[in-house]
Amino acid sequence: MTETVRIEGHVSAQQIRQNPYFYLPFNVPQNASRIHVSYGYSDRLTTPFGNGRGNVLDIGIFDSRGYDFPQPAGFRGWSGASRPEFFLAHDDATPGYIRGDLFPGEWNIMLGVDRIEPEGVRYDVTVAVEQDQGADSHKIEKNTGSARPEALVGRAGHSAPNTSGPRWLKGDLHCHTVHSDGLNSVEEIVRNAVGLGLDFLAVTDHNTSTHFEELERLSDLPIVLIPGEEVTTYWGHANMWGLREWIDFRCADEASMDGVRRYVLQKGGLISVNHPKCVGPPWFFRGWEGYPSMEVWQAPWRFYNWESLERWDSLLRKGERVVAVGGSDVHSIPPAEPRHPHGLANPTTWVYADVSASAPLPARPEALVGREGRPRPEQAILDAIRAGHVFLTDAPNDTRLVLNADADGNGRFETLMGDTIEPNDGRPVRFRVQVNGGMDRRLWLIADGVPIDIRPLDRVESRHEFELDVSGRCYVRAELRGHRGRPERGEVIWAMTNPIWVNA
Ligand SMILES: [Zn+2]
Ligand SMILES: [Zn+2]
Repeated sequence: MTETVRIEGHVSAQQIRQNPYFYLPFNVPQNASRIHVSYGYSDRLTTPFGNGRGNVLDIGIFDSRGYDFPQPAGFRGWSGASRPEFFLAHDDATPGYIRGDLFPGEWNIMLGVDRIEPEGVRYDVTVAVEQDQGADSHKIEKNTGSARPEALVGRAGHSAPNTSGPRWLKGDLHCHTVHSDGLNSVEEIVRNAVGLGLDFLAVTDHNTSTHFEELERLSDLPIVLIPGEEVTTYWGHANMWGLREWIDFRCADEASMDGVRRYVLQKGGLISVNHPKCVGPPWFFRGWEGYPSMEVWQAPWRFYNWESLERWDSLLRKGERVVAVGGSDVHSIPPAEPRHPHGLANPTTWVYADVSASAPLPARPEALVGREGRPRPEQAILDAIRAGHVFLTDAPNDTRLVLNADADGNGRFETLMGDTIEPNDGRPVRFRVQVNGGMDRRLWLIADGVPIDIRPLDRVESRHEFELDVSGRCYVRAELRGHRGRPERGEVIWAMTNPIWVNA
């Protein structure tokens, strides 16, 4: 038996001024076996990149356990505006939606207004609830296991790179799959990353966590898979990494976004401000402080990353210790139809970490520990990011840019990007930059936003040392710049380091 409800309405720009999300309740009876939802709305925006006029209405669903912000138990999935329909059943659901018990009671369709024209938007939602005739089949289905991804426990058998000791590991911290608006399965993306030789990959679907289960399933592949969620609000995007729970994204003001930031950090996760540039979409929140990292390089460099670099540097100059990370933000790779000109690991994030099984790591909250009682391997990577032991390159090839300092003057360059040195009564500090992939490019050495030296390079590999009086300074960092394509198109960044900090 199927019961169908149709919910139609109109919402004006005025009505959603305080909160862009609104909820349409419907009833789920006992013995519901499948819920199918489809929707449409007036004057839908159809042009790419949000140009032109039109409305965009996002959709999601909450079950009878509630929908109060933040982190309600009843969250059952979200697909933004990327799907006209979805379903949930005990043992299956559309990617992005959580299968499992279809609890009887009042459920809610959530609509989120991404874009609205002055005349408002008409919406039309159809909910079809199928019911089992006999109660028995429901009982059998119920035994197929928990459907909540956060209930999943990590497997011991992950096969990260086997060599022990810290080394430079390369990966991509930002990509999407069919669990949100990407075109690839999780497996396609992960196998592509393995093929590229990446050591780690974070899958960061928008506003859902249903891809975590797939990552667990693939955890025997020779790559560290990091569960992530791109917390996607109408005022900016933030990547969350390392927690195995869905993070509420319905932030409609500064306080709620800050609450999400604090929640993620308190639980032991990592969070970044994503693509803070005009085409990002930008970060419209006023709050920039307290985010340990920022996606300074998203997609190929020419994709407006100069803006993000300037934003990041302005925070560094104020003494905000924000770690620069990169992410391809890939939404489609072969065999899916291409939607953008680049693939995974453009750019590549390099971290200095030890992911061997024996690596000693600090004590962890239980949520970050696998079943075998050991910290999950991704924790070493996230710790390296927290420490700023990170540089970024255009691609996962041989290009490297490593900045060290000899802070105590003993002749050894033991200080790494992200570390802090003390100004030493005006005694200059020796720095060293190792460049790989430098042919016909230029090495920029930058302190407090100002280039202190620009060196043309005429070989692939080179090593540069320089001395600097660091008193009164805030940071030192390096960039590898050079032409790409026709010279009149100007230079791009080929690689960049995080700063070595100076204790003011
Ligand atoms: Zn984004
Ligand atoms: Zn993204």
